[in-house]
Amino acid sequence: MLFIDGTWRGANGNATFETSNPATGEVIGTVADAGSVDVDAAIAAASAAFSEWAGQTAYVRSAVLRDAYQLMVDRKERLAKLMTEEQGKPLKAARNEVQYAADFLLWFSEEAKRVYGSTIPAPRSDQRFITLQQPVGVVGAITPWNYPISMVTRKVAPALAAGCTVVLKPAEQTPLCAIEVFEILDEVGLPPGVANLIPTANPVPVGEAFTSDPRIAKVTFTGSTEVGKVLATQAAPHMKRTSFELGGHAPFIVFEDADPVHAAKGAGLVKFLNTGQACISPNRMYVHASIADQFIETLVARTSALRVGNGLDAGVTIGPLVDQPSLDKVQHHVDDAVRKGATLHVGGKPAKVDGPGEGFFFEPTVLGNVTAEMVISHEETFGPVAPVILFENEAEVIAAANDTAYGLAAYVYTNSLARGMRMFEALNFGIIGINDINPTAAAAPFGGMKHSGIGREGGREGIAEYLETKTGGFSI
Ligand code: NAD
Repeated sequence: MLFIDGTWRGANGNATFETSNPATGEVIGTVADAGSVDVDAAIAAASAAFSEWAGQTAYVRSAVLRDAYQLMVDRKERLAKLMTEEQGKPLKAARNEVQYAADFLLWFSEEAKRVYGSTIPAPRSDQRFITLQQPVGVVGAITPWNYPISMVTRKVAPALAAGCTVVLKPAEQTPLCAIEVFEILDEVGLPPGVANLIPTANPVPVGEAFTSDPRIAKVTFTGSTEVGKVLATQAAPHMKRTSFELGGHAPFIVFEDADPVHAAKGAGLVKFLNTGQACISPNRMYVHASIADQFIETLVARTSALRVGNGLDAGVTIGPLVDQPSLDKVQHHVDDAVRKGATLHVGGKPAKVDGPGEGFFFEPTVLGNVTAEMVISHEETFGPVAPVILFENEAEVIAAANDTAYGLAAYVYTNSLARGMRMFEALNFGIIGINDINPTAAAAPFGGMKHSGIGREGGREGIAEYLETKTGGFSI
């Protein structure tokens, strides 16, 4: 169903599309497929609802988000199970994501009340300056499938908190997860038109409408760098406000003063999270040559112990990839590396899993002797492959780590405080974990440099993306 102007309804012409379980290939839902008439209706509803929502007190907006937070936490089990069925991650990881998604509702329910302006000393004694923060207007939001609930709340919560209204297009692979989020917003009493949902099998016209329609003030996108650039190009002639959370190619650096066993355990946990389908997933593991044997031994042992399968089955620690093209891409990265001289320590091919249907499973893989010439060293794999590259000194590894068009996340393991600080300053990435494999939280800004995006989500910065600063100069 589409959610437009507070009403759940089918698409114009009753078009639908199917969503399926990547672990089995089974169809799990049929969803209304928004066309251009529906997109227009959703933008019209959001536009009509804007001035009243923007005019509500911050306390009113905060209360709605707070209630949505509570309802999402209450529904955690149901949402997590649906997410595992539709997206594939193991149930425990899905529960964690629902909590992370709910955290954005709570965080921005609080931030709604902290949208402060300022007073500024003026150059003339008869003059006063003040600034005011106002919502930008109607927001067009596009989200990916890999974190199908938290990526929705990470955009919708700050937009609503700021006083904006929203039209959201979820990824075509995970519309059911987005529908659940909007059911929550509906149930907690969000006024009609304030948040609208338009699932569709064909995202291109929606991107075109969001970037060109004069009623849309801001476009926020999470997805691939490739599509982000298309949208940025489309938005440019219209001077549309934009935020982009795009792809990454994270370095994971382990220095000789770190414990290689501890670092390898961390590396395995963050690499195989969500089957490697995370924008902050390490895509290059730089390990100091003097400790590489111990690191690889531990990483290979931990990787071999992972259990691939349907995320609903007890004991499964790693789920399927989202689709066949993803599986093909992962295989290509492995084959290219091996052909150019990489060592295949474990994995390397599609995994056989018992159960109904055909899932897109790939064996968790560790590659050694990886070099800069291999495709995996510079293209985002988005799959369960850990490529290990050896290094000798700090200057060399900083240069190698920064030698990428991406700039989203980086990880460093060291027992030297000074080195940790030097790395934090020298690495050109928006999010850096120092001896920490989860440098993310609703309260911390998330976003990338270079081709990984523009803008930040979460944290204090997250709501600023939906606000305009207005300066008032008063003669008195
Ligand atoms: P994708 O770019 O193919 O799709 C993302 C979204 O864009 C989907 O909703 C899709 O329907 C839509 N889309 C595709 N083409 C479009 C077009 N021409 N116009 C408008 N919308 C269009 O990416 P994906 O494969 O679904 O997601 C994986 C990518 O997302 C990876 O590169 C990953 O790193 C990135 N990602 C980034 C973050 C972050 O915060 N930086 C978070 C999650 C995922």
